[in-house]
Amino acid sequence: MRVRIALVHYHEIGLKGRNRGQFERRLEENLRWALCGISGVDVARVASRVLVRMPDTADHDAVAAIAAATPGVSYVAIGREAAATPEAIAAAALEAMREARERTPGAATFAVDSRRSATTYTEDSMAMNRRVGEVLRCESGLSVDLGAPDITVWIAVVQANAYVWTRRVEGVGGLPVGTSGAVVALLSAGIDSPVAAWRIMRRGASVIAVHFSGRPQTAAHSEHYVTEIAHVLAHTGGMERLYIVPFGDVQRRIALDAPEDLRVILYRRFMLRMAERIAEREDARALVTGESLGQVASQTLDNVAAISTAASMPVLRPLIGSDKQEIIAEAVAIGTYDLSIASTDDCCTLFMPRRPQTHAMPGEAEMAEAGLDVDELVTMALAGAEAVDLPTAVKRGRRKAGPRVR
Ligand code: ATP
Ligand code: MG
Repeated sequence: MRVRIALVHYHEIGLKGRNRGQFERRLEENLRWALCGISGVDVARVASRVLVRMPDTADHDAVAAIAAATPGVSYVAIGREAAATPEAIAAAALEAMREARERTPGAATFAVDSRRSATTYTEDSMAMNRRVGEVLRCESGLSVDLGAPDITVWIAVVQANAYVWTRRVEGVGGLPVGTSGAVVALLSAGIDSPVAAWRIMRRGASVIAVHFSGRPQTAAHSEHYVTEIAHVLAHTGGMERLYIVPFGDVQRRIALDAPEDLRVILYRRFMLRMAERIAEREDARALVTGESLGQVASQTLDNVAAISTAASMPVLRPLIGSDKQEIIAEAVAIGTYDLSIASTDDCCTLFMPRRPQTHAMPGEAEMAEAGLDVDELVTMALAGAEAVDLPTAVKRGRRKAGPRVR
């Protein structure tokens, strides 16, 4: 039996202008991390791909699914490894073809698509296509169709080995987490912010999440759901830590001392300030929210502007131009949707104004905060913050999970 493999491909176009070696090492490490629970799996780099070798007994579909869900991966080929000799390649192709026909019993046509990146193997790819195609045609009785074959047998000759496959799983694309620095994402237990965090993670950033709970004014239900959501996102290897900040008392003070219609804007401004303090402590460079233009009253352009001035770090809003349906579809795909709809209210429903301001004027929020001791409120809430460390592929000189943020 030939060794079973998953050959992980990435888009080389994504490497333009980047440090290619660093990118490749990161992807290799992230895949090793993601697959470490599966025994007998070996991860190595071979010429612009990452090769996962596994025993026949391993669940290769599970391995492919995990690899395909890893940011930076464009597709995963599932097949077998053979020596780079004409005979071994033909034998591996026959075996791959047999397996493919078992999966697709009605298949009538096939094609061979081979690539050669090893200079030591003399047969060129055209000759290989013809030779292996002829062996497969005689053996299987299927006819060749280069346009729209029912089965494609792919062959890659790389260094001393050949890889042969008939199955590929599309990957999530993006860049390996750990290649774009770190961000702090404001994570509610709602539908949007987990998707926003995921999108930034997919672009290679490592994420530290912050959740604001209504405690002590409300129960801690949202904390349970947001922790579950953080663990789902952590499967990609890009979630470092989740902070939970009791925010109820800050909201109470705002409700008592600031104009009612501006409460929601002030809540968001305080959230950004606290997230920024955490970002400084965690050496993160930007904040991320799940805001989408016009989705709710607090997300008009005027209000987005009024909220943003509370932070000096860039506030990234990856969903700003997305429709709710697109966001929901993505939440389903990444596995956070069910948790989000099951989650009960977070702090957002606490002390809600009857008529929230939908178009805050420039400077209005700052004026409304004049009667509040902003620094003291921020420091007080952060003193009650708790941090949960998540399993992560990215070790950025991790800080100890001291709950206190100053
Ligand atoms: P979501 O679905 O992410 O909860 P939303 O549609 O409810 O978003 P808002 O309530 O206006 O919209 O919140 C806007 C953004 O503010 C959220 O996407 C999230 O990034 C942040 N945010 C809101 N509430 C919280 C919270 N309790 N903890 C952390 N971040 C929050
Ligand atoms: Mg929400």
